[in-house]
Parts: sequence; structure tokens; C-alpha cells
Amino acid sequence: MIESIVCGLIGSGIRASLTPPMHEEEGRRHGLTYAYRIIDLDHLSLSTSNLPRLVWSAQELGFRGLNITHPCKQAVIGCLDGLSADAELLGAVNTVVFEEGKAIGHNTDWSGFARNLDRSLTGAAMDNVVQLGAGGAGVAVAYALLRRGVGRITLVDNNIVRALQLRDRLAPAFVAADISIAALADLPERLSTADGLVNATPMGMAAHPGSAVPPELLRPDLWVADVVYRPLETDLLRAAREVGARTLSGAGMAVFQAVDAFRIFTGIEPDADRMFDHMTAL
Ligand code: NAD
Repeated sequence: MIESIVCGLIGSGIRASLTPPMHEEEGRRHGLTYAYRIIDLDHLSLSTSNLPRLVWSAQELGFRGLNITHPCKQAVIGCLDGLSADAELLGAVNTVVFEEGKAIGHNTDWSGFARNLDRSLTGAAMDNVVQLGAGGAGVAVAYALLRRGVGRITLVDNNIVRALQLRDRLAPAFVAADISIAALADLPERLSTADGLVNATPMGMAAHPGSAVPPELLRPDLWVADVVYRPLETDLLRAAREVGARTLSGAGMAVFQAVDAFRIFTGIEPDADRMFDHMTAL
């Protein structure tokens, strides 16, 4: 009998997520009977306090695993039996797999962003990067940059406490790196010597229009990455493209976190290019 695989996504306001069709289509291409369910806290009138029951129920009902998104990535940790080393260091989980009666947490947001860098910024200078935003996505982005060998990273966030917390979380693991905090007012000076810029704030989404970076600070030899993927081309990426800079949209991070989660759930290596094409066509 062909085994069917059931996975799910827990978060708030996620009913239009593109993750279910990405997983189900890739599963179908591998001949799997693969169902991926949305578990939207808002729609179910639930909150993060219900996470233990949801995770336990998914395990009892035979789910293979869960993806976890905002606002549950930290709160879910208390519901798990173990964490991967990366998830432990980041203090955030976006993928839970049920194996041998245990719920184990992983983080594929960071590996998704890292693989996106590898795929699209081949040969780009990576010594000195300015990162805007030190929230949930920012933690994964900064870790990916440091894992890919960035030696100097400047964290800029409206909320300086978040930037300080991120530096304190990562600095012990990257003692050779220079991780500093700067104010928005310091952007002209910090960007003037940077190789790259990453936006890990929500700026550029429909609900947060515009860009946190004045276009006159962009230049052709400064690569620019965004984690926002709706729209695919944000105001920041458009301005960067117009000055001739290399750009990287948030689609790659969204796809590669799903690629890595699919492998964890199924044990099968997915076709990343096919998943990328499928996601960007949705
Ligand atoms: P968050 O609220 O946890 O963090 C955002 C941070 O940005 C906050 O610390 C906030 O203070 C800061 N910020 C906001 N506006 C700013 C500005 N103008 N200048 C400086 N700092 C500013 O949010 P999050 O979960 O990190 O999500 C951020 C964005 O990343 C969202 O658009 C989300 O959709 C996107 N995201 C994309 C992926 C992907 O796979 N591509 C994954 C996760 C999140």
C-alpha cells in the first residue's frame, strides 16, 4: 500500500500561503500521496497558547511534520522533544518532524536564505554587509550571512533592543566576525563601504509600502537582497535594479526553506529549480 504523507503549517493569517501547493506539487512529482494542511490560528480563533495541543494532535493524528510560522516560531520550542543545533542557536523553529515518537525542531529559514545566496550571488563580494531588520527573518538572515563567511555585519533596526539581542545571540558563535549595531542615520556611512545590503524588515510589502533605504545610497557594485516576496519586486529592489546593482528577491528564501523542509519530511531530495519555477508561477 502506498503510504500517504500529511504535513501542515501553523501560523496566523496564513490562509493564502503558497507553501501547501509547493509541497503538494513536488510530492506529486515524486509519486507521493502528499497532503499539506493549513492550520490558521486566526481562522480557528486560537492563539500560541494552544500550540501544545495542536502539535500533540498533529503527532497523534499521524502527521509527518509541521511548518511553523509567525507568531509561533519561538513559542513552539516549548512543545518539542529536541532541536537541531541550528534551531537551538537561533532560538527559532520553522520545521517540526515527528520521528520515533519524538517532535524535533529544525530551522530551514536560515538554510533557505543561504542557499538563495549561493544560487544567485555567485562570485559576489561578501566581506561587509548591512542588514536592516533584526526580527524573526533577520535572525535567520544574519546567521546565514555569518555561516557564508561575512566578516563584518552591521545590524540596523528601528528597535535597537532587537538588534542588540540578535548580536548577543550570534556573537559567541562567530567570535572572528565584527557584528555591530548602527542607527538609520548611519546608513550613508555604513553603506558607502559595504558589499551588500539585505532588507529583513517588512518594508516593501503592501501593508508596509516604500523602502527604508534612500535610493541615492544604492550603487552598481552594492548587491541588494530582500526577504519580502510579496511583491517579488519591492521598491528597494526596483531602485537597486535601476542603478544596475545585482538583486535577490525574497522568493528564493521562501522556496529553499520549503525545499529543505520537504527533504526533512520525506527523506527525498526535491527538485529545487522545479519548486522555484512552480512557486514563482503561483
Ligand atoms: P518582525 O516583525 O519579526 O521583524 C521586523 C523587524 O524590522 C523588527 O525588528 C522591526 O523593528 C524592524 N523594522 C521595521 N521597519 C523598519 C525600518 N523601516 N527600519 C529599520 N527596522 C525596521 O518580522 P519578520 O517575521 O522578521 O518578517 C519581516 C519580513 O520578512 C516580512 O515581510 C515577512 O513576510 C518576510 N519573511 C520572508 C521570508 C521568506 O521566506 N522570504 C521568511 C520570513 C519572513
